[in-house]
Amino acid sequence: MTRLIFLGPPGAGKGTQAQILSQRCEVPHISTGDILRAAVKAKTELGQKADGYMSAGELVPNDLMLGLIRERLGQADTANGWLLDGFPRNVEQAEFLDRLLTEIEQTCEFVINLEVPDEELVARMLERGRKDDEESVIRNRLEVYREQTEPLIDFYQGRQLLRSVDGNQDLDTVTQVLQTIVKQDPEATPEVEPDIKSEAKP
Ligand code: AMP
Repeated sequence: MTRLIFLGPPGAGKGTQAQILSQRCEVPHISTGDILRAAVKAKTELGQKADGYMSAGELVPNDLMLGLIRERLGQADTANGWLLDGFPRNVEQAEFLDRLLTEIEQTCEFVINLEVPDEELVARMLERGRKDDEESVIRNRLEVYREQTEPLIDFYQGRQLLRSVDGNQDLDTVTQVLQTIVKQDPEATPEVEPDIKSEAKP
């Protein structure tokens, strides 16, 4: 069973890595950004509501996102696992997801935090050239990430689910690290325990 959440700033490679792992682990890659972009393109009601927020690099309001994720995780293809990419994005979404998973009797195994320095993120996003990848919008998305999404690192650290991975390495190396994590037993003790570090002699 593979159930992972991909955390990390925009441009860190969450989508790319989630896509690769999704094929290797044969579980769906659920990207809320992709779902929203498809809705914008199809001009659905959700798409029309979300468009302005996305173009400005702001988060789409929670009242739209919570229903969306509930519906997606209720679909049959998620029975054997899932990789969540882009959700949760703030504490309210994370708390909602906690409650939802309890309700549907599922547990998240790991939360992958892909770490990449800011300047590298900006460079990668500029190269990608998506509609919301103009430099001022990119900067805003990074700010929104720091303010609203980064607190989730502590949130999941506190639940012993967080696994931080250096995302500033070549694509294959990152994939290999992620595959080792996927193979781990979530019940097993993490390799680096915070209290071992603090007990280390100066
Ligand atoms: P992404 O492809 O994950 O970078 O998402 C692109 C854009 O979609 C974001 O900048 C947000 O405007 C919106 N979005 C994606 N996921 C969420 C979410 N979980 N909550 C709110 N907005 C989201």
